[in-house]
Amino acid sequence: MKNIETKTVDCCSSAGLISVEQAIEKILSQATAVEEAESVDILDALNRVLAEDLHSSIDVPGYDNSAMDGYAVNSEDCQSSSNVLSVTQRIPAGQVGTPLERGTAARIFTGAPVPEGADTVVMQEMCQRHDDEKQGDKVTVNTIVSAGENVRRAGEDIAKDSAVLNAGKRLRAQELGLLASVGLAKFQVKRKLKVATFFTGDEIIAPGQPLAAGQIYNSNRYTLRGLLQVMGCEVIDLGIVPDTLEATTDVLTRAAANADLVITSGGVSVGEEDYVRIALEKLGELSMWRIAMKPGKPVAFGKVDNALFMGLPGNPVAVFVTFLVFARALILKLQGADDILLKRIPVIADFDWPKIKRQEYLRVRLLQKDNQTVAQLYPHQGSGVLSSTSWADGLVEALIGKEINKGDVVSYLPFEGHL
Ligand code: AMP
Ligand code: MG
Repeated sequence: MKNIETKTVDCCSSAGLISVEQAIEKILSQATAVEEAESVDILDALNRVLAEDLHSSIDVPGYDNSAMDGYAVNSEDCQSSSNVLSVTQRIPAGQVGTPLERGTAARIFTGAPVPEGADTVVMQEMCQRHDDEKQGDKVTVNTIVSAGENVRRAGEDIAKDSAVLNAGKRLRAQELGLLASVGLAKFQVKRKLKVATFFTGDEIIAPGQPLAAGQIYNSNRYTLRGLLQVMGCEVIDLGIVPDTLEATTDVLTRAAANADLVITSGGVSVGEEDYVRIALEKLGELSMWRIAMKPGKPVAFGKVDNALFMGLPGNPVAVFVTFLVFARALILKLQGADDILLKRIPVIADFDWPKIKRQEYLRVRLLQKDNQTVAQLYPHQGSGVLSSTSWADGLVEALIGKEINKGDVVSYLPFEGHL
C-alpha cells in the first residue's frame, strides 16, 4: 500500500513537477520578515502586523461592576425566597456609590461599579420595588442569591501587567478593540510590505476601453490588487507589459528595484510568447516553476536583487488560487506574521471527482443538507471561469491519486478568514 502511495508522488517529480507542499516549503524557506517597524495610530492599524509585545497597564474591567440592571446587595441578606431591603442609593454607569450597609440595596445599572459591601447584583426582573410614605423606598428580592452573581470582576478579561498581544499578530477588528480596551492608542507595527505588480500579454487592455478583436480585459490586475490591499500591502502597479523579452526585463528591473516582492501574471509557461521566466533567469535566479496543481501549474518563484519574485499564471482563476495557496503565506511571512498557513476544515463532498495527477483546487460553496455541511461544486471548473471564484465561498483540495465520491470527507479551504 505504502509503495503505491510513494509511486503516485514520484510520478509527479519525475515529470518535473513538485508538490504543493514542497513548493510552499521552498517559498517560505527563502522569505525573511521585514525588520523595520514604525509607530502607527490605532485608527490606521487594521491589517498591520504588530512588531512589539504589548502589555496592559490596567485591569480590564478596572473595577468590579454590574453585568445587569438591578440591585446590588450583600448575598447574606438574601437567603430566603423573599427578602425586603431598603434602597439607599442609585448608581448609574460612570458614577461611584458609597459603601453599602447591611440590610440595604443599591439600585444599579449595567457597567456601574458595585459598591463596597455588596457582592452580588440581582437582576431587576427578580425584584419588586415599593416606595410608599409609611415604609419608605424598599425592594423585595424574590430569590435566594449566591455571592458573585452578575458581577464582572476587576481584571477578569485582562489583568494588569499581563500580555495582551504579542509581536507577529496581524491586527483584525477584534484586536483593535482589545488594544483600545487597555487604553493603547499607538504602537509599533512592521512597515508595510511593498509589492510591485505587472501584467503580461499583448491581448490585455484596461477595463473602460472598447475591446478590439482578440483583446481581453485585464481582470487579473483587479483580483491581485484587491488581494494585496486586503493583506495590507503597498501596491506598486507597473501596468500592462507587452510580450517581448526587452519590455519584460525592463519592467522586472524597475519592479525589483523598488519592492520587497514582485508578483506578476501571465507569461510563465513554455510558449514562445512567455518571457517572464526567461527575464527572471536573466536578471536574477529562478528556484522553481512547475507545480503539480490545477489550476496553476506554472508558478515561477525566485529572486531579483533584493526582491523576491512570484510569477503567477495568466489564467484568472489560477491567479486567485495560487495567490491563496502560495502568495498569501509568503506575504504573511515577509510581513512578520505568526499565523501563516491555511486552515483546512473537513466537510462532506456533495459531488464526485475523478482520480487526478495534479492536486486540484475546486471552487465550491457550502450548504446545509440533511443536517450536514456539504460542499457543492461549481459546474464549470475551467481555469478561465472567473465566475466560479465569485460564486464559491472556498476551495476543496482534491488530492493526487484519490478519487472523491459523494459523501466522502474532503478538505475545505474557506476564503473567509484567509483573505
Ligand atoms: P499566459 O499565462 O500568459 O499564457 O496566459 C494564460 C491565459 O490567461 C490566456 O488566455 C491569457 O489571455 C489570460 N490572461 C493573461 N493575463 C491576463 C489578465 N491580466 N487578465 C485576464 N486574463 C489574462
Ligand atoms: Mg500571455
